[in-house]
Amino acid sequence: MHQGYAKSKELFAEAKQYIPGGVNSPVRAFRSVGGDPVFIARGEGSKIYDVDGNGYIDYVQSWGPLILGHCHPRVVEALQECLTRGTSFGAPTELETKMAKLVMKALPSMEMVRMVNSGTEATMSALRVARGYTKRDLIVKFEGCYHGHADHLLIKAGSGALTMGVPDSPGVPASVAVNTITAPYNDIDTLRKIFAEKGTNIAAVIVEPVVGNMGCVPPLPGFLQDLSGLTKEYGALLICDEVMTGFRVSYSGAQGYYGIDPDLTCLGKVIGGGLPVGAYGGKREIMEMVAPAGPVYQAGTLSGNPLAMTAGIVNLEILAQPGVYEELERKSAQLAAGMKKAAEEAGVACWFNRVGAMFSGFFTQVPVVDYRTATTSDTKKYAAWFKKMLELGVYFAPSQFEAGFMSLVHSDADIEQTVDAAKIAYQHVQSL
Ligand code: PMP
Repeated sequence: MHQGYAKSKELFAEAKQYIPGGVNSPVRAFRSVGGDPVFIARGEGSKIYDVDGNGYIDYVQSWGPLILGHCHPRVVEALQECLTRGTSFGAPTELETKMAKLVMKALPSMEMVRMVNSGTEATMSALRVARGYTKRDLIVKFEGCYHGHADHLLIKAGSGALTMGVPDSPGVPASVAVNTITAPYNDIDTLRKIFAEKGTNIAAVIVEPVVGNMGCVPPLPGFLQDLSGLTKEYGALLICDEVMTGFRVSYSGAQGYYGIDPDLTCLGKVIGGGLPVGAYGGKREIMEMVAPAGPVYQAGTLSGNPLAMTAGIVNLEILAQPGVYEELERKSAQLAAGMKKAAEEAGVACWFNRVGAMFSGFFTQVPVVDYRTATTSDTKKYAAWFKKMLELGVYFAPSQFEAGFMSLVHSDADIEQTVDAAKIAYQHVQSL
């Protein structure tokens, strides 16, 4: 029986007095779906439990990092052991080299890698290196892509910025914004025109190779290859922001999945297994520009932190085992097919996108290929669907413009239960 949300409501009211909006990252506040967020007490495997005692099958999984689910026994054990030796030294450890080698083996385009503490730091630093290397100032990003909250990337941004209706944040100086050119995702012709006009001043194009931050939006066939060709033609760098897709859509990320060879790559999420982490890396010649090897400055007190490295290494070791991505694909395909059928049977117009263990159901009839089409979604319907799912014990992202994530530990019974709940939730939406 549902226990209600009394304790969550109480905690949220208190949090709001001390923390802006009561949360430390915007989408957590449930603003776009209305109502108050549930406060989480603990997680185990595919499930999370709130402070009122309700359990949920979790498809947020900390927004992607927990591909092994919550509290994977091997991750917990490795962390406990690591804790007894110290939490941070500000001096090198062997773990960092071990992590670097694992990353580079999985993503051969990364010939050197630098660890940081978040996805934001990874993209911000990669762009600085790209500018330092090319000696150019302009960058290109795509509308609705989110690359963290650095000033020059908070322009027509996705994720929380899009959910909150502030894709262009106040506080970003116009003098910074002028160096960021935005283009529609999946539209190579517009990009060609931009390059024809400004190509020799463009340092880099940064792209989510599969977008997760306006909901899941895959690249159209050939888009990433054309993008790669175009950047090469003009001597600009291609930066693949694989913070979400890295070790998720395949062990070799989206770049392996689609067969592209970017100059620089950003990682985060899965490589920290739920601990704060980010990384950027790429071609040796470019990465040798980074301090102290080279002049482009970038540093971090807690970077390469032993706890984050430990959790990340265990994650990557488990994910490297044969059959893992086949199993993720099987589960994700099963869920996506079940949800699609449930929407169709209820007569709700929905568009489904999925690449591997990343997926979205948009409340629109229009094929979702970019920011414009993603925003044709009926967010009120999404909100009603989300709340019903929550009530039925399934936790999806509290925003239409975020992807869902499958973990390796979601069971067939979890998926069946989710599809059964989805049937009720789509019928509920249809009856409104
Ligand atoms: N890039 C991408 C593609 C992301 O999805 C995110 C976060 N969701 C970031 C960068 C920023 O990462 P962080 O929140 O760790 O700063």
